[in-house]
Amino acid sequence: MADVVVIGAGLAGLTAARVLARAGQRVRVLEAATEIGGRVRTHEIEGFTLDAGYQVLFPAYPAVRRQLNVSELDLVPLPSAAVVRRGAQADVIGDPIRDPGGLLSTLRTNLLPALDKARVAKLALQLRGPEPWQLLRGPDESTEQYLKRQGFSDAALNHFFRPFFGGIFLKRDLSTSARLFRYYFRMLMDGGAALPRRGMGAIPAQLAAELDVSIGVRVTRLLPHGRHVTVVTSAGELDADHVIVATDADTAAHLTQADTARGQVSSTYLYYTSPSRLDDQERLILNLDGGLIHNAHWLSNAVPERAPAGQHLLVVTVLGLPERDNQALDARIRAELSRWYGSLDVQRLRTLKVERLPFAQYPQLPEYASTLPGHATDLPGVVLASEVTSMSGIQGAMESGEKAAAIVLDDLQVLSRPRGA
Ligand SMILES: Cc1cc2nc3c(=O)[nH]c(=O)nc-3n(C[C@H](O)[C@H](O)[C@H](O)COP(=O)(O)OP(=O)(O)OC[C@H]3O[C@@H](n4cnc5c(N)ncnc54)[C@H](O)[C@@H]3O)c2cc1C
Repeated sequence: MADVVVIGAGLAGLTAARVLARAGQRVRVLEAATEIGGRVRTHEIEGFTLDAGYQVLFPAYPAVRRQLNVSELDLVPLPSAAVVRRGAQADVIGDPIRDPGGLLSTLRTNLLPALDKARVAKLALQLRGPEPWQLLRGPDESTEQYLKRQGFSDAALNHFFRPFFGGIFLKRDLSTSARLFRYYFRMLMDGGAALPRRGMGAIPAQLAAELDVSIGVRVTRLLPHGRHVTVVTSAGELDADHVIVATDADTAAHLTQADTARGQVSSTYLYYTSPSRLDDQERLILNLDGGLIHNAHWLSNAVPERAPAGQHLLVVTVLGLPERDNQALDARIRAELSRWYGSLDVQRLRTLKVERLPFAQYPQLPEYASTLPGHATDLPGVVLASEVTSMSGIQGAMESGEKAAAIVLDDLQVLSRPRGA
């Protein structure tokens, strides 16, 4: 019998299990898929290193700092600026202190009116003051409403905030909660963005290093009785004192009867390889030409180890799940890339993979936080983890794992205390 069974080996479950194991508990993690990581995974295809979709790590995430040995992730910092592309024209917009190479372009570009550049500096000063968690409190509104209240022009919204933060929220309309905008803005100021050299999968791999994880085991029911919970799985039954449910929202609702339903934000990724360098840009490329491409990144320019020697790797992000037919989607993306690189060069690109991810995040509209479920469930001994208790992202998932583990440890202490103590 395990002291604690954790269901789901995503970042939430692995973080919870690691905290508990380090506190001396016998923990077993059960994962339905054939690999760990949940939505954070990395695969090798023909020598190219591909993450599940385009994901980056913000090293300033407090839970990352608390739980991970960041130096062992071998992080490659990404430039703190993006390139805004309109046809053949490419303007750099970014943080002139963190990315001095983009200073002149950021100052010169007419995409961002001078007053808006000053407003970005003012916003940075304003958001630097509070503790990061304080930015997630207070009255809420959409990111668009918030930016307009800060005086930003439509040009700033359309040329920078929608394409850049649309890539983080996976929604271009800036309808996402302004609390999250402020939090991510601050995370970017504090630590920029980075990619683990060997892929985002290095994050769950590090968390799982000392854990007992069984893969390919799907949990189907939880049956609390007395001071134990029987965990019914595709591979039989086992008993535990406590169970942490760290699955997706729908499975959590099925297993615990908690109201966890959140909805889904989807995205699609196309990976291209090239034997010649079409672009020497290391920065994320934002598309202002319209069409399906939201952004694109030459991953091998930023992290050369992501492609075999002499080869180049491009990932294109498309928001949502357009065009059911992969060939038709590929043809549309190639036509759009031709506006940047010319059709002859684009013909030389090879399509390595088309990946559709129906569930990347859950939607986080203003006031979403007030509707989130807590960690407690109606089942005795069963605690909820997962980003659905917090915010959709790496910080939210890991922090929820930490909190679920703390609740279980607290409960164990209460149980082991002599009566009346
Ligand atoms: C394309 C994409 C881009 C993203 N970009 C970013 C980003 O840039 N920054 C950021 O912070 N976040 C980003 N995210 C979000 C981030 O990856 C997730 O918020 C986080 O990984 C969620 O972790 P989790 O553990 O809560 O859930 P999950 O990763 O979904 O893990 C749940 C696990 O439970 C398992 N499971 C489900 N049912 C059962 C069952 N019955 N029995 C056993 N196991 C079960 C699943 O197989 C899965 O492994 C992105 C996500 C995607 C997909």
